[in-house]
Amino acid sequence: MKSNKQRRQEIKQHRVQRAKKQAQNAAHTAIPKNALKANHAALSHNTTYSPFPLYYIDKPFTCKDCGKAEVWTAAQQQWWYEQAKGCIDSTAVRCRACRTQERARKAAAREQHLAGLARKYGSLPRQ
Ligand SMILES: [Zn+2]
Repeated sequence: MKSNKQRRQEIKQHRVQRAKKQAQNAAHTAIPKNALKANHAALSHNTTYSPFPLYYIDKPFTCKDCGKAEVWTAAQQQWWYEQAKGCIDSTAVRCRACRTQERARKAAAREQHLAGLARKYGSLPRQ
């Protein structure tokens, strides 16, 4: 019978081999014509155990506010994940028009909230 230490080493070796194999397979995966390659170095702000996407591809979605069908383009995804440092698990949920509207609504709510604080305390506590 193997000792626990021997078994642990066996398991570790198996995992290393499997990771190598997966990396090899990923390197040979063909990227679709209209997709953009993902830059994994630019995704390093994410703390996830799941592998990063190999590429971005246009993604159709339905706006959660108005129900309009819209496409989240590969270029927009690349900007969101790599430049804006968006979370790798986040996706587009609102169409452009609803996004603009939602941003205005949030700004107005924030302004009202801060104005309320200013009335209560005489000046803004911090900003
Ligand atoms: Zn919408």
